[in-house]
Amino acid sequence: MAKADLHTHSLFSDGKLSPTELAAKAKTKGLAALALTDHDTIDGLPEAKKACKELGLQFINGVEITSDFNGKEAHVLAFGFSLKNNDLNEFLKNQNELRENRIRSMIEKLQKMDVNLTFESIKEISGNGSIGRPHLAKALVNAGYAKNSSMAFSKYIGNYSPAYFKSEHCDFKEVIKVIHRAKAKAILAHPARNYTDEELNEWIYHGIDGFEMIHPTHPYPLQQKYENLSNQYGLLKTGGSDYHGFYSKDEVYFGVVTINTLIVQNLVTLQKENNG
Ligand code: AMP
Ligand code: MN
Ligand code: MN
Ligand code: MN
Repeated sequence: MAKADLHTHSLFSDGKLSPTELAAKAKTKGLAALALTDHDTIDGLPEAKKACKELGLQFINGVEITSDFNGKEAHVLAFGFSLKNNDLNEFLKNQNELRENRIRSMIEKLQKMDVNLTFESIKEISGNGSIGRPHLAKALVNAGYAKNSSMAFSKYIGNYSPAYFKSEHCDFKEVIKVIHRAKAKAILAHPARNYTDEELNEWIYHGIDGFEMIHPTHPYPLQQKYENLSNQYGLLKTGGSDYHGFYSKDEVYFGVVTINTLIVQNLVTLQKENNG
């Protein structure tokens, strides 16, 4: 086992740190390997890779892809692809168009509540990154419509709030296929987030390569559950802190997750084979 974190976010999605800052923090914490897994974007990976190389850290290309699992939002982690894979790049471009359209729909709903924000003002906050509700929340705070992000979610854009707009995502089976076409590994992120055992079997049936066994939302018995399930089907077991840099739990988990060294090495090797 080695200290490694295969689930982190940077300011290229909804994280606080730049990829360079994240790599530096990983080094300080004594990690042997790091994967950056921003939501639906791989734009932060070149910077993260360069920073890790300079610090002598192993780096794995990653992305956390939003998908639709029978009407539920499901997150799939992909590891080890090449940044130049055309198919994956096209797919992610489309994912970001879906994200942007969704934010526009929420802006329209907000307008009906006399809350006036421009798409551009939110784009300014998300910068180069993939746009999401956290950026919309920040815009609501900046414009004085909410005291803080948490209030913005509960008052306007939380899952059960009036300006919420359900996202339309690509079917999970399609996402697994895209990842496999890129010769990368598809891992179900935080499986404890509302999957029944039957549903976990459905993921396996459709070719998921592994489960994220270690995650802040998994107490030890759940870790064991996903470990046993992975072992039973010969699947990979990964783990990470899901570091965003905004929550107190981030600091608790970043730098303590350990992962089977062989799994990390295999992903590093896979990426080399893919010229990633
Ligand atoms: P999106 O992918 O655009 O739907 O945004 C989801 C992100 O919003 C999550 O990853 C969280 O970081 C954040 N989020 C969701 N619900 C809340 C909430 N109630 N309070 C604060 N942040 C939230
Ligand atoms: Mn997030
Ligand atoms: Mn997630
Ligand atoms: Mn995540």
